[in-house]
Amino acid sequence: MKFIKKFDQYITAIFIITIIVIIATSYFTFKEFFNASHQKQQEVVMPLFSLINSEIIRPLTVSQYMASDPFLLDYIEQEKIDNEVIFNYITSVSSQFNTLSFIAIEKHLLLIDSNNKTTNLSGKEAEWYHRLKAINKKEFTDFGDANNPHLFFDVKMFNKQQKFLGFIGLAIDLDHFANKFAKFKQDYGFKLYFVDNNNDITLSSEQIMQTMSHHRKDVVTNITELPWYQQYQSEYKANNDNSQYFFDYSSNELIISQMPLKELNWRVFIIAPPITEQSVYWQLFMQNLIIFLLVSLALYSLFTLCINNFRSDLVKGSETDYLTQLPNRNFIHWKYSQLNKKHDHVSVVVADIDNFKILNDSYGHLFGDEVLKVIATKLSENLRAIDLAGRWGGEEFILILPDTTAEQAQEIINRIRKNIANTPFTPLSTSKEFNVTVSFGISDSNLTGIPLEEIFAKADQALYSAKTNGRNQVVVHLD
Ligand code: GH3
Ligand code: MG
Ligand code: MG
Repeated sequence: MKFIKKFDQYITAIFIITIIVIIATSYFTFKEFFNASHQKQQEVVMPLFSLINSEIIRPLTVSQYMASDPFLLDYIEQEKIDNEVIFNYITSVSSQFNTLSFIAIEKHLLLIDSNNKTTNLSGKEAEWYHRLKAINKKEFTDFGDANNPHLFFDVKMFNKQQKFLGFIGLAIDLDHFANKFAKFKQDYGFKLYFVDNNNDITLSSEQIMQTMSHHRKDVVTNITELPWYQQYQSEYKANNDNSQYFFDYSSNELIISQMPLKELNWRVFIIAPPITEQSVYWQLFMQNLIIFLLVSLALYSLFTLCINNFRSDLVKGSETDYLTQLPNRNFIHWKYSQLNKKHDHVSVVVADIDNFKILNDSYGHLFGDEVLKVIATKLSENLRAIDLAGRWGGEEFILILPDTTAEQAQEIINRIRKNIANTPFTPLSTSKEFNVTVSFGISDSNLTGIPLEEIFAKADQALYSAKTNGRNQVVVHLD
């Protein structure tokens, strides 16, 4: 039993060591993965830049193209124009680019947008028109309508004589724009900052939706106010290389890339936390860890299940005598050591088959074995659940009867003795029946730390008396 406990401890220790080894291996694997992910993060910056480019630069280019379309310019200079024709023209563009489009015509003081809304330019709503018209610049970006934020590209239209004809342009839905970047933000923790030539943040992924047209001028943040920027700027200057399209700077906290948006005279900053702070990394790490722990647990359970099954067979085998299937000496000793937990008195009986050598010599060992089996059954079959019958060795058996005095034991054993003596045996080699007898010696004792050997020796003395007195009898040892 001690051995089994130790065995269990060894198995657990082996598993703990295995788990530690696997965790260590995973750690190094994840370090590799970390490096690979870092690489991937760098690679993702490229598609992000091209997405920005297509989302911002394309509408601007399209606006510029419309502003120089000779057919349109001619048409809006006509005395009479058909709003329908103009509406069709601008919607054919906006539907292609998933944007809002508009045209503001100076001659007719008319604003038409792709939502088929017409506005008079002399009204209050068109304040922007007069403000931008007065500025000596051809192109503008502006944020309109805080509730439904759009980034407007306003391009002035002129005829051949450089006469101002109005504005035309597209407006990007900033919600739609933000959604496009949501995945980058979620997976890699990217933050985006669009900065104009005054270093004012025109758009950012942080408050992309809070932007409000020219009315918000007072809430504009200058990028130089952001804590990372100054450190970045000094690094950037130190490494300044204008031919470099991207600039990557890694500090302990941030990875920064920047790209100019020449068409708008803007710059875009992509700020990313290091890979270890990113959700993709942790998601993957946690997923792997959980899978690994579940697999380990399943393996451990499976393993212990197998071991336990195997062990119970093993233990049974190591505790049972093969020939008689009675408990062997090992088990008897263990059982005896447990007795004093529940009982305080015991009778020990030693049984020895009479003249067994002659029986063996006359009918052979195989028949002798059969006799041993039958006697083993007879010795054990009518006992109480707390009693124990075992094979001590050779043709000797032992019976342990807890809470039984020697006198009571003598009575029980005499019954068994008679039962055996009255059982006829018939060897195959001869049809002649004969009987086998057994002699018994009994000793009883209280259970206060007295070793089994000591009681056994006394019972054995009594057995010796039984043999010398003529066999087939039960003798109680007298102190
Ligand atoms: P006594 O009445 O004095 O006990 O005489 P005995 O012949 O029984 O005593 P002894 O100790 O001289 O002989 C025991 C014999 O039991 C010797 C041995 O061959 C036989 N024996 C012991 N184990 C086995 C066994 O597993 N199978 C068989 N067939 N015989 C066994
Ligand atoms: Mg013997
Ligand atoms: Mg014998």
